Amino acid sequence: VDRNALNFSGGPGVLPARVLAETQQAIASVPGVGLSILGISHRSDWFAGLIEQIERDLRALLDLPDSYGVLLLQGGATLQFSMVPMLLLRGSGRTAEYLRTGYWSAKSIVPARLEGEVRVLWDGEAQGFRRLPMVDELEYSPEAAYLHYVSNETVEGLQFHCVPGRDGVRRVCDMSSDFLSRPIDIERFDLIYAHAQKNLGPAGVTLVIIRRALLEQVPPGIPEILDYRAHLQARSVYNTPPVLAIYVVSRVLRWLREDIGGLERMGALNRCKAECLYGVIDCYPDIYEGWARPLDRSWMNVVFRLKRPEWEAEFLDRAEQAGFSGLKGHRALGGVRASLYNGLSLQAVERLAKFMIDFARHG
Ligand code: PMP
Repeated sequence: VDRNALNFSGGPGVLPARVLAETQQAIASVPGVGLSILGISHRSDWFAGLIEQIERDLRALLDLPDSYGVLLLQGGATLQFSMVPMLLLRGSGRTAEYLRTGYWSAKSIVPARLEGEVRVLWDGEAQGFRRLPMVDELEYSPEAAYLHYVSNETVEGLQFHCVPGRDGVRRVCDMSSDFLSRPIDIERFDLIYAHAQKNLGPAGVTLVIIRRALLEQVPPGIPEILDYRAHLQARSVYNTPPVLAIYVVSRVLRWLREDIGGLERMGALNRCKAECLYGVIDCYPDIYEGWARPLDRSWMNVVFRLKRPEWEAEFLDRAEQAGFSGLKGHRALGGVRASLYNGLSLQAVERLAKFMIDFARHG
């Protein structure tokens, strides 16, 4: 069994076989360069070209106009929890609105409070973070500095299948665990960030897409390394970037364009993968229980429990023996989580579905 092909890890996630092979090759010697990717200068023309190619591919995939800048940063999605309110909340005299829909959005609120007023428009904790708000449960202020939300809650497996917020108020979204998993209406967003280690590549690089107009008023006193303008000016080479991680991202984007054929196709495939597993969960309600309300189910992280807690260890053990890995739920929640990131094939999901059916039937 190829353990890579059956890796359902919540992150860092599985990458396509083609990308792994290309990365292996690049560690020995990058085609056309003749040097290991681990020893190529980030100041070389070749690397500048690589950054440009990533930007071109992203613009093509997302239909991204020039009024947005593309940045490759470090510090993970967690640093964006601070950089966003530093830019958009600090000294604004306004209130930022946050949706608290799960483990990660809860984390994003804490550093925002250091920069100014925060209003939590929706807090799903009392209901165990098992559902997202409905449109009529949210009252946005037209005066808000911005609305921040997490499009896919990685731990609980909740995903927005519509775009919350009101047009006219800046919309900021942490798309770490569903970026490039399906098409989005990019111009409804003002700032999007996503770390690489789910759908894009390895940890170490975080993608930021920012409407350039946001940078017309930057509050004073922000250290240069935390100022988006410095990174734009430096074309994402403000200091030494993670060259290897960025190389892998470039190969993933190529794979997405050439092998998959773009975001429409990626979305259709991801939907199919998710429906396959939820179908099994719904078919055996005496054995499995999905975490999320069906309306809010994530296509990326299928989170469920066994009806009896004592079955869970058995399920995970047997899955491991059958070659599946990464199925254990997040430490904050327990249970089982099957993450179906872009790099995971439909065949792998079908194999897991079959395993779950066998487990349900024969124990
Ligand atoms: N946001 C989301 C939605 C995540 O899933 C995670 C981590 N899995 C984070 C933020 C934190 O990311 P990082 O470890 O890159 O800081």
